[in-house]
Parts: sequence; structure tokens; C-alpha cells
Amino acid sequence: MIYDYIVIGGGASGLMFASQLKNNKSLLLEGSPSFGTKLLISGGGHCNITHGGSIKDFVDCYGEAGRRIRTCLYKHSNLELIKLLEDNGIATYANEENKIFPVSMRARDILDLLISRAKANGWSLHANAKVKAITEQGETILVHTEDETYEARRVVIATGGITYPKTGSDGSMFEILKSLGIEVTELHSVLAPLTPEGYPYGELAGIAFPDAVVTTGTTKKDRHTFRDALLFTHKDLSGPAILNISRYTPEGTEFSINYIPDVEDPFKELVAAVASSHANYANIVADTFGVPKRFAEIIVSRAQGTRKATASRDGISLKCIVELLTNDRFIVKERGDNGMVTMGGVSLKEISTSTMELKNHPGIYVIGEALDVDGITGGYNLQFAYSSAMAASS
Ligand SMILES: Cc1cc2nc3c(=O)[nH]c(=O)nc-3n(C[C@H](O)[C@H](O)[C@H](O)COP(=O)(O)OP(=O)(O)OC[C@H]3O[C@@H](n4cnc5c(N)ncnc54)[C@H](O)[C@@H]3O)c2cc1C
Repeated sequence: MIYDYIVIGGGASGLMFASQLKNNKSLLLEGSPSFGTKLLISGGGHCNITHGGSIKDFVDCYGEAGRRIRTCLYKHSNLELIKLLEDNGIATYANEENKIFPVSMRARDILDLLISRAKANGWSLHANAKVKAITEQGETILVHTEDETYEARRVVIATGGITYPKTGSDGSMFEILKSLGIEVTELHSVLAPLTPEGYPYGELAGIAFPDAVVTTGTTKKDRHTFRDALLFTHKDLSGPAILNISRYTPEGTEFSINYIPDVEDPFKELVAAVASSHANYANIVADTFGVPKRFAEIIVSRAQGTRKATASRDGISLKCIVELLTNDRFIVKERGDNGMVTMGGVSLKEISTSTMELKNHPGIYVIGEALDVDGITGGYNLQFAYSSAMAASS
């Protein structure tokens, strides 16, 4: 039998594709024992499926790739995805940051919907069917697993990236694609925590700043800034502000943190507070800027350690304290390999971004995270899984 479609990869994008296309000569091959494992852990199991607001604002959320996938996003937007879910009985809600979740807060509900729609569309879904090779024979494409060779007119690569390999997305497909002469850009784990050199906040694990500004780069071109929550863990910095900047901060890069971005003139405020109080500096810093006391203690002792000529009456430079609060500079020692998405993948130069078909391999399509597209936190990656799947299936 020659299948009309074979989808390789039963994650978010592969299942979205199968759930949209009616065809009873279609097969989906998933390498791991179960479908949608990464989808199930998305959003901490709650699945932040997309973001609210205008689709135009999405374009800036995928680094350099944003402009190139604009048409695909506009054509198959967040509103279309939300409507699809709502029309199929999955009510959604937007949290205070406009991130969209199912009201049930269960990623499982979304996975169940995709699987049941794919089956209703006539698809055969095979788990434990890891694809080892793809070959082309005229207009027919052969897909080889350990035990079988399947033939298809069209093949959709939906095998994801390299992060969280235990979910099945182990990057093995990239070698297969390279062997076909397809360009795969350098692969990195991003949306990852950052371990700075001389990390001073390990003992503050669990302390979070709801609104911090993280910046890297010095020129207009390489400067990137994210304003969001930031979290100290025992060994690294995490939270959305850090995860989002991580694609721009490989090992050795410098970045800085402003923990109090809303304070207009922190130096003036600190000088005034010190003049009117006999409390120790840590207490003054904590009270004046509303930061945790233990954090203020570390800031003050670091300021003491980096004493400058402008030292105040206690030998501690207020300027130095303010500098650490507003421009705490670090060098990245390690960018975690446990990032949530992969930067890099099949080069966008290889595909038509309106159909996701490979230009030099007609009949083979690439969708989702297998492409060189990665979004920031907030539902942008699952939105692209959907938009690209829709573009390929229409
Ligand atoms: C912890 C975590 C939380 C996340 N939370 C969110 C979130 O809330 N919102 C959001 O937008 N994004 C989130 N993401 C990112 C999002 O889950 C992914 O971008 C998305 O799942 C990518 O979909 P995909 O179908 O392209 O790849 P995947 O979901 O990775 O699916 C790829 C599938 O292909 C299979 N496969 C791989 N190689 C082969 C092969 N050779 N043969 C057969 N099958 C193969 C894999 O087993 C896997 O099932 C999160 C990611 C992680 C790790």
C-alpha cells in the first residue's frame, strides 16, 4: 500500500497535522511508546497552548525567524487555534499575562482531543515505530523503521528538537535529514536556566522577583532585553526573564539584571533613606525597594567586597549597592542543557514557508520544532507547532 501521508512524530505538531486532515490512507509513526509526551508536560502539565492578543505581536517572539514565518502565523493564528479548541469542547482562558490555557488546566485534554480527531479523520497511529531512514524512489518516499518499510506520496517530519530527549525528541531525525543533503543549523538547548560565574545567590533558592529586567548585548543589533519574573535556584538563575534571554547568552556572554526596574532614581531614594534611618543597610535596602531581606544582605555584603573610592560613612558605597540592584552583571558559565526548546533545526532556507515543503525534496514537509524556529515562553512554541502543521495540511 502507498500511503497518501506519513507523519513521522506523534508530538504536538504531528498530531495537530493529523487532527486537521481527513484521509484514510494516512499513517502516523511515533518512535516512543506513547504520543504527545512533551505536550503532556507543557506548561507544567497545564499546557500554555498559545498567547492572547494580536497575532502581529507574535512575530517578534521567535528571534530572527519571526519575519520569515509571519505569513504562516497570520494565516493560522492564535484566534484560529483557540476557536478550534472551543468548537471541540475545550474552553480556554487567558491568565493575567494573557497566556492561554485550557480551563481544565489539563494538557491531557488537548492531547486526547488531537488523538481522537486524528483517528476520526481516518489516520492509523503507530507507537514504538522509530524511523531510522528515509529514502526517495522517484515520486515515492520510503520510510524505514527497524521492522518495516512504508511507502508514501507525502511525508511530514514532525520529530521535534533535541531537548528533553526522554520524551522521545532525541534529535535522531536531524542526522537522517542531513544524510539527504538537507541543511540543519546548529542545535542548542534554549529557554534554559543560566549558571553565572561566581553565582552568589545559591542560598536564596526559591526567592523570585516578579518583575525583573534582564539585558544582554551592547549594540542596537545585539542588544536583547526581557522583562519578566526571575527565580534564584540553588545552582542557577531561572524564571521566564532568564529562560527567554538564554537563546542570546551562550557560555561566556555577559548579561545584567535590574531587580527594581520601576524605581526611577534608586540612588536618590537610597541616600534619602540612609539619611533618615539608623537601621543597618540591609534593612534599609529591603524596606526602601521592597526586596527580600536575605537578598538585601547579600547585596550589601557584595557591595562591601567591591568597595570603591566613593565609599560612604560605613565604608559601603551606596552607588555600589544601587549598581548591584539595577545592573547586576554576570558572565554565563553554563547554559543548561535542560532547556524547553531547541534553537536550530532544519534551515528555513530549505522550505517554502507557506507550505512547509522542502524545496529540493518535493513531497517532504517539515513542521514544528524540527524547524529552525524557537519562540519565547508564553505559548509561542505550541502556536508555531499548530500554524506550521496547518500550513502543511492546507
Ligand atoms: C517542560 C516543557 C514545557 C513546555 N511548555 C510549553 C508551553 O506551555 N507552551 C508552549 O508553547 N510550548 C511549551 N513547550 C515547548 C513545546 O512543548 C514544544 O515546542 C512542542 O511540543 C514541539 O512540538 P513538536 O511536535 O514539534 O515536537 P515534540 O512535541 O517534541 O514531538 C516530536 C515527536 O517526534 C517523535 N520522534 C522523534 N524522532 C523520531 C523518529 N526518528 N521516529 C519517530 N518518531 C520520532 C518524538 O518521540 C516526539 O513524540 C514546553 C517544552 C518543555 C520541554
